[in-house]
Amino acid sequence: MTYDPDNIFAKILRGELPCHKIYEDTDTFVFLDIMPRATGHMLVSPKTPCRNVLDASAEQLAACIMTTQKMAQLAMTAFAADGITLQQFNERPGGQEVFHLHFHILPRHAGVSLRPPGQMADQAQLKEHAEMLRALLAK
Ligand code: 5GP
Repeated sequence: MTYDPDNIFAKILRGELPCHKIYEDTDTFVFLDIMPRATGHMLVSPKTPCRNVLDASAEQLAACIMTTQKMAQLAMTAFAADGITLQQFNERPGGQEVFHLHFHILPRHAGVSLRPPGQMADQAQLKEHAEMLRALLAK
């Protein structure tokens, strides 16, 4: 399996497609999922190319999981969450749809199920959530 540099997330990382960015550091980039399965659904990707966990380097994985922890802690506060679900899919039979490594961060509330996949979010609400998350990070 080879990396396709024209996948959607590669284009987002290059700034060729828009996204609601939350955070970036030298190695990782965080943005809101456009079809959130929970309010505040974030995606954490390495800035450098790899399809998924199966071909990622130790450095890419380490950077992603450290950023994932930071964003999970942020989400707990930002959305007054009761817990966090992490998801990560590998290759199409494993549930992967976009072939640039990413970890899903899903803020959870007691008794609230995940929304079904494939439902587009309201862009104004995504913008509001991204602004709120960036403001909390800047504190
Ligand atoms: P996976 O590859 O882990 O199955 O999921 C890909 C995720 O990317 C899905 O949750 C989907 O909603 C999200 N997604 C697909 N296209 C875009 C896009 O253009 N922008 C953003 N922000 N998210 C996307």
